[in-house]
Amino acid sequence: MSEEKSLNFIEEIVAQDLAAGKYDAILTRFPPEPNGYLHIGHAKSICLNFGLAKHFGGGTNLRFDDTNPTTEETEYVESIKADVKWLGFDWVKECYASDYFDTLYGFAIQLIEKGLAYVDDSSPEEIALQKGTPTVAGTGNAYRNRSIEENKTLFEAMKAGAFEDGAKVLRAKIDLGNPNMHLRDPLLYRIKKAHHHRTGDKWCIYPMYDFAHGQSDSIENITHSICTLEFIPHRALYDWGIEQLGIFPSKQYEFARLNMTYTIMSKRKLLQLVQENHVESWDDPRMPTISGMRRRGYTPESIRDFCERIGIAKRENIIDFSLLEFCVREHLNKIAQRRMVVTDPIQLIISNYELGEEILHSENNPEDPDGGVRAVPFSKELWIERDDFMELPTKKYFRLGPDLMVRLKSAYIIKCDSFDKDEHGNIKTVYASYFPESKSGSDTSGIHVKGTLHWVSAKHAVPVTLNEYDRLFKVEDVAGAEGDFKDYINPNSLTKVTTAWGEPALLEDSKEARFQFLRKGYFYQDTTSTQTALVFNRTVTLKDTWAKEQKK
Ligand code: ATP
Ligand code: MG
Repeated sequence: MSEEKSLNFIEEIVAQDLAAGKYDAILTRFPPEPNGYLHIGHAKSICLNFGLAKHFGGGTNLRFDDTNPTTEETEYVESIKADVKWLGFDWVKECYASDYFDTLYGFAIQLIEKGLAYVDDSSPEEIALQKGTPTVAGTGNAYRNRSIEENKTLFEAMKAGAFEDGAKVLRAKIDLGNPNMHLRDPLLYRIKKAHHHRTGDKWCIYPMYDFAHGQSDSIENITHSICTLEFIPHRALYDWGIEQLGIFPSKQYEFARLNMTYTIMSKRKLLQLVQENHVESWDDPRMPTISGMRRRGYTPESIRDFCERIGIAKRENIIDFSLLEFCVREHLNKIAQRRMVVTDPIQLIISNYELGEEILHSENNPEDPDGGVRAVPFSKELWIERDDFMELPTKKYFRLGPDLMVRLKSAYIIKCDSFDKDEHGNIKTVYASYFPESKSGSDTSGIHVKGTLHWVSAKHAVPVTLNEYDRLFKVEDVAGAEGDFKDYINPNSLTKVTTAWGEPALLEDSKEARFQFLRKGYFYQDTTSTQTALVFNRTVTLKDTWAKEQKK
């Protein structure tokens, strides 16, 4: 981070804590629940947590918050690890809340022994009623007066499996009149006879978020525990637990979550999209998941840049998706290999070309002086785009039409002599003459033309499938829109172009290479792509045509 950049409010806090000598080094954590794939909102949290540690010289733990056995799976754990690594971050320790189940159980016993927790047999409805309302104090119930001994016996029996799911809960005994509803004897443990992806069937009671999160932070000696704004009311409980147990004083800080236009950011809803086949998979290139963005061709650099630009605030807002695309475009422009692909071909015959074929060279990336060149075969029969030819050209049409001249990219200037149509009246073949002395790089023709067209040599061209994408949702504020979010899915979010022809260099290019297909956009090879069936995903368009559309 550069010196002149001002600190965000969390960085300010860390800087002050370090200056005051509170800690020798900071330790943050990124605590995903392994119940889905990570999305771009998580990237914000990752960049913040790992970024703080990087900036201030400390570390970050990756902690799986796996206290809910019914929704969590190992597949999610693996994907989360891969995504964090791909974003460019390394954790100090890989931790699991489930590894602390024994310690947490011990903490619960401690609270019971201090008279600060009790077993309650009430139903969830009764508990809710007895809690009162924000303006009326709760009444509580007789279970609250159970003896320490009875509570201990019952809690041990809960652990031993003596009761059915929901029959009893363990609650903290705090304050039924507290204006903060979270302090009105919150639940600490519930019975859930479910198989856990790591602890198997060892446990049938599981700690609640509020009795796992802060405690796990403390067990790991986390100095700054950063979460999103909705946890502000939980902070008092977070501090209460640490104080009563006398454990390491981790501190919770809250920042505004990332919301983005035309998308949703909830693993639960993203899971629905996958399960109900609105998308192919979690890594469908239209998904706002890290894996979807990776598959689409976004780079870790561009996502980090985006997170840096949006900053960290204390108030919620909604970020324009096109800002993310801007960051992607910025990075890809610097690194993408330029290639030519024709999507809607018409034939172009160079009538006076007698060389058979020759190998020309074209710059890989004009933004990169060390980017080198690639071989591009040229021959008498080429493919050009249908809309690069006009039978009756308008005045400002600088592409091809009867008697018009253009340059073929990295090749020659040509002049259109005539054209043929098929039986439906569509242009089939365009005939042109080339000027041998106009060869790119050694042009002595003295001819000036305004238009440059991309092309491929027909006999060398390789067939490619292009996947082009539009927004996954039709409205800006999907989360805020009325009714079911799935009603707003854009039915045309994927278009496949299967007739495209690409230059043969594509067969030799690395699968990891980023491309700019001239005049078409940035592309990246899909995970399904093979040497015999190349498939590319359009990562992003060349320009933000979408933003302009909106202004119309
Ligand atoms: P979801 O509703 O998508 O499941 P979550 O908050 O339940 O989100 P977790 O796996 O619990 O997901 O989140 C891990 C970390 O990522 C948490 O610290 C959480 O605050 C943070 N996080 C989740 N969503 C966002 C977001 N949209 N913007 C910023 N941080 C987020
Ligand atoms: Mg969660």
